[in-house]
Parts: sequence; structure tokens; C-alpha cells
Amino acid sequence: MKNINLRRTMIVISAFLMPFTIFFMSPAVILMAASEGIINSSALVFLLIFIVSLFTGRIWCGWLCPAGGMQELIGSGCEKKPSDGFLNYFKYILFAIWATMILILFVMAGGINGVNPMYGTEGGIFPKIMYVYLILLAIFVISTFILGGRSMCRYFCPMSVIMIIGRKIGNILNLPGLRLKTEPEKCIDCGLCNKACPVGISVSEMVKNNDSNTNDCIMCGSCADSCKKGAVTFGFSKNK
Ligand code: SF4
Ligand code: SF4
Repeated sequence: MKNINLRRTMIVISAFLMPFTIFFMSPAVILMAASEGIINSSALVFLLIFIVSLFTGRIWCGWLCPAGGMQELIGSGCEKKPSDGFLNYFKYILFAIWATMILILFVMAGGINGVNPMYGTEGGIFPKIMYVYLILLAIFVISTFILGGRSMCRYFCPMSVIMIIGRKIGNILNLPGLRLKTEPEKCIDCGLCNKACPVGISVSEMVKNNDSNTNDCIMCGSCADSCKKGAVTFGFSKNK
């Protein structure tokens, strides 16, 4: 099975499970728990995602994130893609606001009062989470058709910054990990990789520059699957 088929299967399953899993990987529920000094399941999930990102960058975004899966389902057939520009900075601003709010809420709650993975689930998570789910769905539909497929991932998702930081630390520590490998001498500039990239990265430029480090790559492997010349491949290695 090619990367792309396995990945799509996994992320689509994750998208369909979103109404059940959203409560356990929600930045909003982390804030609710922090206001009581509680470390909840979402905080633990994001900690795990950070640790994994030391070795695999944003693989969560590409392979498992239910919100990413929903955007791919909504945007299938949509030609428009995100691009470079000022919108790319919004995710960092949102992350800084969110992280600061968590710190302030913990301080106001008197520090960490406990760990409760089932925080907020008393009495069930439905229907209280359903309206959040429907709002997210509407946001994804609007952003996909106005800004392009996966635009929330590239421009706005504060969670992505956790993994971007993880990858940078992994690179500084020279940890081995899952990466794109580029071989510019094999590239014929056909552009198939650019078409395949769901987040609108100019992969051929990356290959020409022989540098696969980009904060926006969601490690989906689609460019490697599409390149018939082997100029970009996907595998474990150390950062150059
Ligand atoms: S698909 Fe391969 S050969 Fe074509 S532009 Fe991309 S890296 Fe170069
Ligand atoms: S650069 Fe390649 S691996 Fe990264 S998001 Fe684009 S297609 Fe996926």
C-alpha cells in the first residue's frame, strides 16, 4: 500500500471519529481544566504529540488529526491551496495567546491541583460537545472554500506550533527522525510534487534548494509518492 492510501485511510477514519474524540484533544477543554488547576486528557495528548514531534515533526497533522481529516474530506476536489504570506503567522500569534492563557489560568487556580484524564466527562460528553463540533465543521467548510484545502492547518492551528517547536528541538539535538530527503540533481522540474502537496508548499523549490526543513510540512509523504524521479523521498534520517 502506498503511503498516500494508508495515510488517507487513517486520517479519514480519524475524521469520522471526531465527534467522539474531540473532547480528548481540545485546546478549549485544556483552558477549562486549567481554570481549575487540572491537567486533563487533552493536555496529556498534546504532551505526547510534542514528544513524538521531536522525531517526526508534524506527522500528527498529516496522518491522524481529525480536524485535518475533515478538511481533506471537505476539500477533496478543491483546487485552491494555501500559500506563503502573512496569514502563515497567525498560528504563532494564536499559540502565544493560548499558551499565555493556560499559564495565567493555572496561576489563578493556585498551580496544578491534580491530573484528571476524564475531566469534564461527568454526565457524558454529548450533547455539550456537539455544538462545538458543528461550529468547527462550518469553519472548515468556509476556510476550505475561501482560503483553500488544509488552510486551517497552515494558517491558524495553534496546535501545529507545538510540533514545529518539537521538530526544531529535535533538529538542534540532532535526533534521527522521519524526514523528506531531497536530491536536486534528479529533479526534472515537472511540478507533480507541488500539485500533490495538500498544504501548498512549493516542493520543487525545496528540492532545488536541497533543504526539506519547512514549518508547514505535515509529513504526509504525498510529494514523495508523486515524484517519479526519486528527487524527493520520505524516510528516517538525521537532519543535514
Ligand atoms: S515531482 Fe520530482 S522531479 Fe518533478 S518537480 Fe517534484 S521533485 Fe522534481
Ligand atoms: S512537502 Fe510533501 S510531505 Fe510535506 S506536506 Fe507537502 S506533500 Fe506532504
